[in-house]
Amino acid sequence: ISQPVTQRSQQTAQSSCQSLDASLEEEVKAFLINEDELHTYDDLTKVSPVTPSTVLKCLQARYSAKVFYTHAGCTLVALNPFQPIPHLYSLDVMKEYHCAPQPQEFKPHIFIVAEEAYRNVQGQVEPTNQSLVVSGESGAGKTWTSRCLMKYYATIAAPSSSQKCQDTVERIERRVLDSNPIMEAFGNASTLRNNNSSRFGKYIQLQLDRSQLLVGASVQTYLLEKTRVAFQAANERNFHIFYQASKWLTCRTLIHVLIYLTLFSKAVSLVNPLTVIYFFWPVATVSVQSTLLKGTILAGLLNLGNVIFCPSDDESQPCKLKEQSRGFLQNTADLLGVPSEELEACLRLRSLRAGKQSVVLKPCSQAECSVRRDCLAKLIYAHVFDWLVACINKSMCADTSRWCNFIGLLDVYGFECFTSNNLEQLCINYANEKLQQHFVAHYLKAQQDYVSEGLAWSFIQYQDNQSCLDLIEGSPAGVFSLLNEECRLNRPSDAKQFRMRLEKELSSNACVSWDKFSRQPDFTVLHYAGKVSYQIEGMMEKNKDPVPPELVHLLQQSQDSLLQSFFTEHSTEDSSGRGPSKVVTVVSKFKNSLESLMKILHSTTPHYTRCIKPNPDCRPLTFKKEEVINQLEACGIVETINISAAGFPIRLVCNVAQRPFVVPPIGLDVDKDTLLREVTRILNAVLRRHSLDPCGDAGGRTRSSMVHCGRTKVFMTHSMVG
Ligand code: ADP
Ligand code: MG
Repeated sequence: ISQPVTQRSQQTAQSSCQSLDASLEEEVKAFLINEDELHTYDDLTKVSPVTPSTVLKCLQARYSAKVFYTHAGCTLVALNPFQPIPHLYSLDVMKEYHCAPQPQEFKPHIFIVAEEAYRNVQGQVEPTNQSLVVSGESGAGKTWTSRCLMKYYATIAAPSSSQKCQDTVERIERRVLDSNPIMEAFGNASTLRNNNSSRFGKYIQLQLDRSQLLVGASVQTYLLEKTRVAFQAANERNFHIFYQASKWLTCRTLIHVLIYLTLFSKAVSLVNPLTVIYFFWPVATVSVQSTLLKGTILAGLLNLGNVIFCPSDDESQPCKLKEQSRGFLQNTADLLGVPSEELEACLRLRSLRAGKQSVVLKPCSQAECSVRRDCLAKLIYAHVFDWLVACINKSMCADTSRWCNFIGLLDVYGFECFTSNNLEQLCINYANEKLQQHFVAHYLKAQQDYVSEGLAWSFIQYQDNQSCLDLIEGSPAGVFSLLNEECRLNRPSDAKQFRMRLEKELSSNACVSWDKFSRQPDFTVLHYAGKVSYQIEGMMEKNKDPVPPELVHLLQQSQDSLLQSFFTEHSTEDSSGRGPSKVVTVVSKFKNSLESLMKILHSTTPHYTRCIKPNPDCRPLTFKKEEVINQLEACGIVETINISAAGFPIRLVCNVAQRPFVVPPIGLDVDKDTLLREVTRILNAVLRRHSLDPCGDAGGRTRSSMVHCGRTKVFMTHSMVG
């Protein structure tokens, strides 16, 4: 990540800014509401007309009034205050929302979403699993929100605290909460956009028993940005753990300046090593515990970063180890438990199979040596991270017989568009396309109902992103398939040639465009959230993510039992170059894990929260219009509001006996008592407003269009009964 400001932001910010003030004035004049009362609008569906500018104005008014949550129909918008807000998340507030008969009537809050999901689990007919999807760009507050949600459930769904083990590590809610700082230590880093930026996606399932008590949890992670261990852009940092661990690593392991650690002096301490220990104590052997406590692997990685190669004086000779690096190489070898000569050989020599039996060692260039060194670091770190997640899961996950339902919390990276974008951004933006499709599909399901009831349903313009998804994941002609095919050919990658191939195969798709004059081969994808140009150079290599087999063989012989265990069953690439490689590519892995995630999401009732970053510098209580409007556009907030506002979540169903009953709002299961209260409330509301327009077109938002009579149902908006 080399640029704090995105390309799209730069472009659209300028154009948006120029027209923003003018259009704002126009639209605000046309408001059907009083500007002084804007901050009182708890739901953006009440804003009229709904445009990016009017929505922006309303959110700005609320932000100035220090109101950070606003409903957008079926979604919650969360503005980041960038400063702790006293009492907003206190125990009392949690209890208030949890105990309220109708929490929806309270001020918008993340706890409403939490409580709604919690009540929904029980369901009216049968229990339903729930998912809370939190999205937004880096620094918008996704991880904070997920933490709030976890704290909420750890509080209101905790098993009785009368047991003697109160507040000890045995308590599951304690474990669930403590898993956060540990995962963040290993998976978060300070970036230009967020000083605690999550460099991985995660889906946590909170497991509930029949009495809706929290009995366990499991976590699934996605696409850790492992390159960060070896390389950080200017003014960005490595994963927090290296700085934190430096405090408790033995002096011997950390010497001088460490290249993998930029800005080393700003060490932070988010995680207490003692917290780390209890997580691993029950699942780790004694030697693993000691490895972890001494931090030998982490220290080994840091020393490895200081192993530098230089060209030989005689150009015909292979490159050599820098003299000053010898000590670091020795330290690395000691810490990783491997012989230093073998480590050096692995970094400097590539083995090539010549004929059936013999192996030839070919010296690597200086650049190749550095790539191998960084590859070793990434390989080890990725295994440490996966192992850590596995340990956390082992210590948190309840036996399947003990839980019957779950609430899933999804905290994934938001849409990304930098000056230069590559495979990582393509994967991340693809994930966001999938989530957007899921979101639209979920809320448009109601559409079928309207059509079968004979209602006109032409009033929502929404963007169907299927063709963008076809472009990326389509088979055989899709970017991922073509990329995989290219990687399988096992030939030196040629970006220009690959671009020609893409252009030929994907020409019929309207979501891709080609800039003939770009200096580097690239392609531009029209995502639902904006255009992104992806560089092709390096994409194939990143997709293959090759691991030299010598490195794996080296680690398989490590004296460190933890390190060795990572590689016992590791399959290595066929170094002969003959035959197709069996290695699973990065995009295949990512696509598969995303598909399983989508399957889970589809089986649950989703609740969406869109986090918004009000200014790029993380300044407290500062609202930058152009920054916010870009995000509102990127997450399609206007569409969301239109879908919610134009929909009729409340339905009166007239059965044969002409006895009306209420179908609760979509996505909200309510209990019988609540249902009865709703019926009474709605009927009263209907009686109060006699002017029903039975068959009008639902396009306008006049009072009469808030009620529609279908063949067997009466459809109403929330505001009709509000
Ligand atoms: P993301 O996960 O979207 O990248 P984070 O959740 O890490 O962003 O939020 C970035 C920072 O913003 C946090 O470290 C915190 O300081 C601040 N922040 C986010 N949400 C809130 C909130 N609701 N109240 C106070 N500060 C917040
Ligand atoms: Mg985060």
